[in-house]
Formats: sequence, C-alpha cells, structure tokens
Amino acid sequence: MRNYYTAIQFWSYALLVVCLCPLAVFLGSYMGWPRGAAPLLLLAPPTVLAAVSSPRICYWTITALSVGSCFAETYFRTDIVKGDNNYALSILSAAVLIGLVLLIDVYIGKLKRTLYQIQQQNDELVRQLYESQKESFANLQNTGDADETKPRQPAESRDTPAGEVGVNYPLLLLTLQDIGRRISTNQSNESLIPTVISTAKASLQCEYCQVYLWDSKSRSLKNALPVRARDQLNYRPVPESGVAAWVIEHRQIVMRNDAEQDYRLKRILDDDPHMPDAISPLTVGSDLIGLLVIDKVDVESPTIGRLLYILSNIYALGIKNSQLFKRIEEMASRDGLTGLFNHATFQEKLHELVTQADAQSSQLSIIMSDIDHFKSFNDTYGHQAGDFVLKEVARIWKTVMPEKAIIARYGGEEFIGVLLDHEYSQAMQIAEDLRETMENCPILFEGQQLQVTASFGVTEFKHPATTTNELVRIADENLYKAKEGGRNQVIGLDPNSARKPRI
Ligand code: GH3
Ligand code: MG
Ligand code: MG
Repeated sequence: MRNYYTAIQFWSYALLVVCLCPLAVFLGSYMGWPRGAAPLLLLAPPTVLAAVSSPRICYWTITALSVGSCFAETYFRTDIVKGDNNYALSILSAAVLIGLVLLIDVYIGKLKRTLYQIQQQNDELVRQLYESQKESFANLQNTGDADETKPRQPAESRDTPAGEVGVNYPLLLLTLQDIGRRISTNQSNESLIPTVISTAKASLQCEYCQVYLWDSKSRSLKNALPVRARDQLNYRPVPESGVAAWVIEHRQIVMRNDAEQDYRLKRILDDDPHMPDAISPLTVGSDLIGLLVIDKVDVESPTIGRLLYILSNIYALGIKNSQLFKRIEEMASRDGLTGLFNHATFQEKLHELVTQADAQSSQLSIIMSDIDHFKSFNDTYGHQAGDFVLKEVARIWKTVMPEKAIIARYGGEEFIGVLLDHEYSQAMQIAEDLRETMENCPILFEGQQLQVTASFGVTEFKHPATTTNELVRIADENLYKAKEGGRNQVIGLDPNSARKPRI
C-alpha cells in the first residue's frame, strides 16, 4: 500500500464486503430472496465505492471478494436442498458486479490520460516561464553592471552565467509562485507573514528576517509576529530616527555595506550602529505597508539588492492584499452606523451558537430590544440626532453585555444579543441592566440632553424554542408584549413556570 490512508481504506472495504456476505446468506435463506439477489444489492455499493476511490489493485481485490461472496451465498444458503448447485444466478450477479467495475475502470483510465496531457502542458509552460525569467534576469544583470560605479567583479565572475552568481532561479521561481498563490487565496496576515519570512530566508539565504507593519495613523512600526515566533534579532527599527526613519522617508532599500560608503547615510549609520545587513521598505504604489529587516545575508552577492527589491514588492502586495481582504470581510459583516454585526452575520453566528449549545447541552439566551417611540424621536430631534442615539445605544450594549456575547443591529432601531453559557435569569438581569442604563444615562448631542428608553424581550434555547427561527420569534413575541405592556420594560419567559411570561 502506498500510504496508511490507502491501507485503511482497503481494509475497511474488505471488512465490509466480508461482513455483508453472511447477511446476504441470511437474507437469501430466511427471506427467500432469489439466489444472487442479496449479494448483488448489498455488495454493489461498497464495490462501486472502492472502484471510484481506491487504487486499481485495491478495487479489483474488493471486486474479487464480492464475486466470491456471490457464490458463497448460494453455497451456504440453508433453504436450498443439498446438492442443488445451480450457480447460474450467482454467475449473473458476479458478472453484473464485474461489469460495473470494468466500466469505472475504463472511465478512470480515460480521465488519467487527459490529466497526464494537462500535466505535460503545464510542465512545458513552467519550463518556458523559467527560461524567460532567467533570460530577463541575465539582461538586467548586464545592464546593471554597465552603469554601476561600484568596484567591478573579477572578470571570471562576471563572465559566469547569471544563474550561477548567487541567485537560485528555481527557488526564486518557486518563491514567486508560492507568494502569488497566497495572494490569490487571500490568506490572513497570521499565515502570510511566516511564509514571507521563510521564503525570504530561503531565497536571500539570510539567517534573520523580520517584518514590521507600518501604521500610518500613529506613525508606528509593529512587529508582525508574536514575540515567541520572532527571530532573535537584537534590533528594533524606530520610525523617528536611524536608518528605519530614512527608509520610511525615502522608500529605498538600505544595505549596510553600501551605507558605509555613502556620505549621506554614513552619519545616520553612526547614530544607528546596530543596523542589520539590510532594511527594505514594503510599498504598494505610494503606500508604505511596512519594513523587511534582514541580517546575516551574503552582502557580497551582486544580485542581493535587486532580489530584495523584487521580493519586497511581492511581499508588500501580498500583505496589502490580505489587509484589504480582512477589511472587506469586516465591512461585509458589520453594520456601518453602529459597528455591530449586521443581520446576516447575526443569523450565521446564531446558527453556529445554537448548534454548539445543542451539542454541548450548554445554555443560550437571547435578548432582543427595540427603542421606544423612535419615529417621533426622529421627528422631534431630527435623523442626525437619531443616528447619534443609535450609535450610543450600541455603545451601551457593548459596555453592558459580557465580552463574549454576540451583539447585532437586527433592524432599524432593533438590537439583539446572544449569550452563551449564561443562565436565563442572568440574561434577564443583563436585559434589565441595559434597560436601566438607557433610562438613566442621558445622551449628549450638540448641547442637548437626549433620552430614549427601550423595550426588551428575552428567551432561552430549548425553553421553549428549538430552532434559531423559533428562538428569535419568541424573543420578538416577548418584545411585543413589553411594548403592549407600556414599553420601557423587560419581558421574558420564566423557565420554572412553563410558558408564563414574567416581567
Ligand atoms: P415603538 O415604540 O412601537 O417601537 O415605536 P417606534 O416609533 O420606535 O416604531 P416604528 O417601527 O414605527 O419606528 C421605527 C423608526 O426607527 C422609524 C425610523 O424613522 C427609525 N429608524 C430606523 N432606522 C433608523 C436609522 O438608521 N436612523 C434613524 N435616525 N432612525 C431610524
Ligand atoms: Mg422597530
Ligand atoms: Mg421602536
């Protein structure tokens, strides 16, 4: 067997077929089924499944076992007179089984051939890409050498093909391919940054690599990895001074050995004596995304600067992409005015929590609320004041509700919260706290003290709600009762007095 998975799969099917054989004998003997019918019905599904999912040797072995079972059924049947060895129907069942597997076998063979052709075409494309990359890099190398003012490489080193002067082309190609894949799959920064670091280390052949993310609002740099996952590099770039400040301002790579020969950078380097081998800006257009800090690299390599430049651009694009993706995801799941989850996300999360509560038999409660007379509030104070109040009410919910609760803006002036692992009585108390806070905390808007109240409906999972829809419906009904009862109140369902509303 090629691997454990295939072996387990094979033995499972084999065991299933062997166990189904006595069942076929039983069905044939005691239910009077025609010979061959029970094995055909019972053994066709596992045999076909094996044929579509296992390697060839496995499914033909399973088929052989199934065929054997067809004959065994007739042989072992107790309702057949001894000596009556009529295997015609068993042969027919076995032929049907073999026919089915043969059909699948032919079809899979055809698929494999098509796949092989596609693979060949793919390999050819990669080879062409590799050749063209190698060629353009060699051209770049020659042009660069022509106008460089730096001391020239020894003649024999310049004459060597570009692919042998420190750049590992296949590795570079794989790196670009790998990063490209991650960009297209929109990975989160948490998984993208370790890939950036490992691929940078491999392709630049450096010992240390760190990524710092730039926050343009606070003008600060933050290491993209948690402390335990960082390289033990005893250097921290600061945006206010030193080489990092220069890189941030000029958006240019600084290599330590180049800086030592550059009169503009020499002074900065004197203030920043522990600067590692290179600091590279990660930029997309005019946007600075962060810095790539590398150390213990082969600074003598003539291509290291260019390679670092290419990689920095790819990494910057990847990181920017994942940041944008995260923002879009965040925006799609949140309500624009209050920042709470929107209706659609709430439904998804409620479904997840209800499934979890059901599986773990944990408690789950729902609080639903609606601001009282909000239409006339808008008519009196204007919609801008109304919007401000909605934001403030959301803030009250965030403050009063436990940290792990799910809070959403259910509709216009309706809010909803889900509490996991909270007893029903606790949910009632939290709803009461929300109501009291809203009643007693005036909201200051453009010099005016505004005040709103809200009505609340509370319910808990399984009592009596069973599905998410039912759960929300009952909370809504209780909310309606709170409105009917005079507003500014909490109505729930007391779990101890079945289906009797409690205020
Ligand atoms: P009740 O106590 O029965 O809930 O009365 P109500 O006036 O609050 O109820 P109704 O459902 O008739 O009115 C809801 C109002 O909420 C209507 C609408 O003007 C207001 N509203 C809904 N969404 C927003 C919003 O995003 N901003 C503002 N300012 N008002 C909103
Ligand atoms: Mg309403
Ligand atoms: Mg209302």
